[in-house]
Amino acid sequence: MQTNFSAAQLADPHVAESEKILRKCVHCGFCTATCPTYVTLGNELDSPRGRIYLIKDMLENGRPADKQIVTHIDRCLSCLACMTTCPSGVNYMHLVDHARAHIQETYRRPLLDRLTRAMLAFVLPYPARFRAALRLAKLGKPFVGLFEKIPALKPLGAMLKLAPVSIPTASPMASPGIHAGQGTKKGRVAILTGCAQSVLDPAINDTTIALLTRLGVEVVVPEGEGCCGALVHHMGREPAALASARQNVDAWTRAIENGGLDAIIITASGCGTTIKDYGFMLRLDSAYAEKAERVSALAKDITEYLASLDLPEPVRKPGTIVAYHSACSMQHGQKITRQPKELLTKAGFVVREPREGHLCCGSAGTYNILQSEISAKLRDRKVRNIEATGAQIVATGNIGCITQIASAAKLPVVHTIKLLDWAYGGPRPEGVSEERLVAAE
Ligand code: SF4
Ligand code: SF4
Repeated sequence: MQTNFSAAQLADPHVAESEKILRKCVHCGFCTATCPTYVTLGNELDSPRGRIYLIKDMLENGRPADKQIVTHIDRCLSCLACMTTCPSGVNYMHLVDHARAHIQETYRRPLLDRLTRAMLAFVLPYPARFRAALRLAKLGKPFVGLFEKIPALKPLGAMLKLAPVSIPTASPMASPGIHAGQGTKKGRVAILTGCAQSVLDPAINDTTIALLTRLGVEVVVPEGEGCCGALVHHMGREPAALASARQNVDAWTRAIENGGLDAIIITASGCGTTIKDYGFMLRLDSAYAEKAERVSALAKDITEYLASLDLPEPVRKPGTIVAYHSACSMQHGQKITRQPKELLTKAGFVVREPREGHLCCGSAGTYNILQSEISAKLRDRKVRNIEATGAQIVATGNIGCITQIASAAKLPVVHTIKLLDWAYGGPRPEGVSEERLVAAE
């Protein structure tokens, strides 16, 4: 695609990066076919190609964002299906991240939208605040119907609907410390305990630590790590996202220098995509660029890391039919497609892949709160495809997808690690009946 940026505009490294990306796009439109918002809404401006044109026009003309571009960029899930489809290697992720930061800097949203976004950025990345908010949400649940009828309050209604009825107690295993591996030492890793996941389902990290230590891997929970920054990054709040990235780079660099690390384990693929991008996000910060590159190179999804280990035979081979839902951040963001399915199969599960597996479930960070109508359409489509597999359980590797799919599916939805842990001698995953797991035993 031809571009017309002035030399002065290209002196801004963010604009220069976006210009490089724009020049790679050949307008072929292949990406439209796999874009969930184009498939749902049928509007070219809600397709990757349409958004690319809008972003180009805004940046080239050095214009502040306007209502039209904000509408169509807000509807983008950042699912990155377009990047998997694109034959020209267009890095849509970096382009839309830049557009979102530009919107945040130049566009004044309506008051309630501003307040909702500020509240999400204040609450979600902090486990103590999020836990307190979920307790409050219980009081608001009876008013969901009312909020859903008032357009400006729809996000509040969506938030209350998604809030779980019971909140698990915080796990002591998530506190900073070292969990020693059993037997011969096979490795040493750090684990990201994260933010929302550690509140909604602390058992995911507990199970990961339990399985890794049983396999002989020492697991460090580093002092000072926090939210990966993805939630605010996707809202265009760059200073906050970069502050989170720096905080984690510092925490993990200390762990690297104090005993070494083979990997930084991430159990939420949404976080993994962002942490693997820290090297790019902090490239202009000379104090952090190199350290951030090192951290990004060490970041591994738990299934990526397990696939690199020499695993023993599972203690039980359940034969249960599992529908594997590949989160967008797993398949498109990190290109991890093989390992989770192979691990589940090796552990004795029968893996089925739902139709339209490339399409997002509509969770996408805060999307199911801020764009609840499109999100619900995508969720229902995903659940129909999952249920058509005839599976007994749904497995996936991202807490956002677990919450989203579980809000509409009749099947139990669990993190992949819980099924693997169970097959390798751990306890039966909570919420999954014995009959479902041992159906074919
Ligand atoms: S990231 Fe997803 S929703 Fe956004 S343009 Fe690409 S395919 Fe469409
Ligand atoms: S598939 Fe790639 S090159 Fe083609 S229009 Fe989409 S982003 Fe541009």
